[in-house]
Amino acid sequence: MGARILVVEDEEALTTLLRYNLDAEGYDVETVARGDEADTRLKERIPDLIVLDWMLPGLSGIELCRRLRARPETKQLPIIMLTARGEESERVRGLATGADDYIVKPFSVPELLARVRGLLRRASPERLATVLTYGDIEMDRDKRRVARSGQPIDLGPTEYRLLEFFLEHPGRVFSREQLLDGVWGRDIYIDERTVDVHIGRLRKLLNYGREQDPIRTVRGAGYALDDRFAKAE
Ligand code: CA
Repeated sequence: MGARILVVEDEEALTTLLRYNLDAEGYDVETVARGDEADTRLKERIPDLIVLDWMLPGLSGIELCRRLRARPETKQLPIIMLTARGEESERVRGLATGADDYIVKPFSVPELLARVRGLLRRASPERLATVLTYGDIEMDRDKRRVARSGQPIDLGPTEYRLLEFFLEHPGRVFSREQLLDGVWGRDIYIDERTVDVHIGRLRKLLNYGREQDPIRTVRGAGYALDDRFAKAE
């Protein structure tokens, strides 16, 4: 599953170029042309990184950046600001307001891609790791293999993605809606109870013949990888 990138840019040609190239790198790309629309979108769903243009209709990139930094859930969200040449002093202000990086237009696509990769790596190294481990669970993403205490476990594709999603965010509690978004994708309508069904299957396969359940059910909230599980090993 590629990292999710939200591109907020009102120049259509640039948006198309960015979408095409980020898509080709395997990222899950969404684009929005207005600052106020981006703000609304970000309240519903938080990507892994934002490419944010400075000058936007509705709400400026700088104001959006300020708002994102003021909210706990987007305080750490990696932001790359796009600025036009000649906005040098503005650029400095951009960084002061909390953007992690900036890039001056016109820029080369490989340069932007390198910045995106670098920022994602710093923000969440586990996203790029080939082997994810948690307690006695090991997932090798190159070989698409899962094992517990060295014993291979055969997971279906949905259970695999579900486990991968948990392993990328150990300890974090996800609501059913967030799991649907993260594992199934936002464009598909699936009943939230489907999540329970797949969690049930994942548990059964992971826990067969074992006592410790690595998945924690948080009443009224959702599911998480149990952090006591990692510590117990
Ligand atoms: Ca613009």
